[in-house]
Amino acid sequence: MDSAHEYEFDAIVIGGGIGGLQSALDLADQGYRTAVIEKDASIGGKMIRLSKVFPTLDCASCITTPKMAAAAHHEQITLFTYCDVNDIERKDGAIEASVTQRPRYVDIDKCIGCRKCEYECPVSVPDVEQGGFSGRKAIRIPFSNAIPQKAVLDVTNCMLCGKCASICPTGAIVYNQQPESYRITAKTAVLATGFELTSINDKRQYGMGEIPNVIDSMQMERLLAPHGPYGRVLRPSDGMIPDSIAYVQCAGSRDASMGVSYCSRVCCMYAIKQAMLLSGSLPLADITIYYMDIRAFGKNYEQFYQNAKAMGIEFVKAKVASLDTGEDGAVAVHYEDQQGEGVTTREHDMVVLSAGMLPGWSPQGQCPVSIGGDGFIKTIQPKTGPSLTDLEGVFVAGTAAGPKDIVDTITEAGGAAMEAAKYLTALHEDATEGQLASSPQGLGDERIKEAVHE
Ligand SMILES: Cc1cc2nc3c(=O)[nH]c(=O)nc-3n(C[C@H](O)[C@H](O)[C@H](O)COP(=O)(O)OP(=O)(O)OC[C@H]3O[C@@H](n4cnc5c(N)ncnc54)[C@H](O)[C@@H]3O)c2cc1C
Ligand code: SF4
Ligand code: SF4
Repeated sequence: MDSAHEYEFDAIVIGGGIGGLQSALDLADQGYRTAVIEKDASIGGKMIRLSKVFPTLDCASCITTPKMAAAAHHEQITLFTYCDVNDIERKDGAIEASVTQRPRYVDIDKCIGCRKCEYECPVSVPDVEQGGFSGRKAIRIPFSNAIPQKAVLDVTNCMLCGKCASICPTGAIVYNQQPESYRITAKTAVLATGFELTSINDKRQYGMGEIPNVIDSMQMERLLAPHGPYGRVLRPSDGMIPDSIAYVQCAGSRDASMGVSYCSRVCCMYAIKQAMLLSGSLPLADITIYYMDIRAFGKNYEQFYQNAKAMGIEFVKAKVASLDTGEDGAVAVHYEDQQGEGVTTREHDMVVLSAGMLPGWSPQGQCPVSIGGDGFIKTIQPKTGPSLTDLEGVFVAGTAAGPKDIVDTITEAGGAAMEAAKYLTALHEDATEGQLASSPQGLGDERIKEAVHE
């Protein structure tokens, strides 16, 4: 027998990153009952894990946390965290999502977020939320400003010692908790499933995971973050304060050998941002950026780049061929200088790979929206309607549609919410007037077909 809990909303937003939260808030503020479905144990996406953000150098969590809290406390928003979307389909004029909530092994109605279980748990494993540089317990609140502030038990590493259950003041631990199934229906949906970093392990000549002190840019975000693993920037292999840090640009973008031929659009800017932050926290360190070309395309971005040069950050126009283990934990960078020095090698205490963006979710087999040649969700009117997909009533926001920065993600998320609201209004008007709702998205069937086959 199908025992799925059934819920009905006006709108579903898939993905609780900054894009999904913005769409959900814009819909909810207009009075639409909105469900946010997030696969992680907390909402917030990548932005809540960043240090500061270009080009303003605002603290990322200071901007993201209020949005997360606003969504969590909004009367019209219901959050479904730790959920896998099995299937999204259009059925009888509605969008139906079949969702499985993985067990946290914690009753979230009872958990008060006191962390006593976390302090008591004897198991410590590397914490991916902190770039793998520090440990976390087998039961823990995912990170300091996670929403919801509810514990989650990692069943793979738990040794079932029972300590968390005996210390928990509310009896929230449920070792035999089972997955829950939900069937969520709505009239419209926004896909805001974001991005993942390109897997640099595939680029063997860069030695990620093999050469000590080669890290990726998200790990550097954590080293720079106020609640980072060490509280300061230290070299991971031996804890030394690095005197020289290098960035390798396009390490996972514009590289057909990795199947990523596009530019990820944010890596130049985040490398410049991190370099500026490093100059602030390590004033004596030399920071070098090896780049093919710098793409500083947004408002005030060129000025940001010029400021970085004025601060003494060294920009070397070069193609990095490979990395190697150097002397005393250093990393040797072999590169071809594009401005005359030819093939050269230099050593740095640490190297950061500026990884690119891959789609955060592939809808294939789960949702009948099309994807483009780059794997991101295809928009059928990329110029004039960047949030329209080829599935009626389903819109896309943020990096789910392609690489972009936070400003563009927020702008698109507002656009997607507006399209969804227009769609809901048209449905309502059609129902009121008793007319056939043949194309509330404003696109005739013929135009949809045309656009899809562009
Ligand atoms: C190292 C680094 C530094 C950066 N620094 C900056 C900066 O300083 N300034 C700037 O403007 N931009 C910066 N960016 C870019 C910025 O992170 C993105 O623009 C922004 O986070 C995109 O938000 P999003 O909501 O589209 O995606 P995400 O943040 O990826 O959110 C997507 C959410 O959807 C969830 N999800 C995915 N699939 C599913 C599914 N099937 N079901 C349910 N949930 C799902 C994910 O768990 C995630 O929570 C940086 C990027 C990187 C990699
Ligand atoms: S599970 Fe219990 S001990 Fe752990 S945070 Fe929640 S209330 Fe506290
Ligand atoms: S039962 Fe598992 S999660 Fe709980 S304290 Fe023991 S090892 Fe940690």
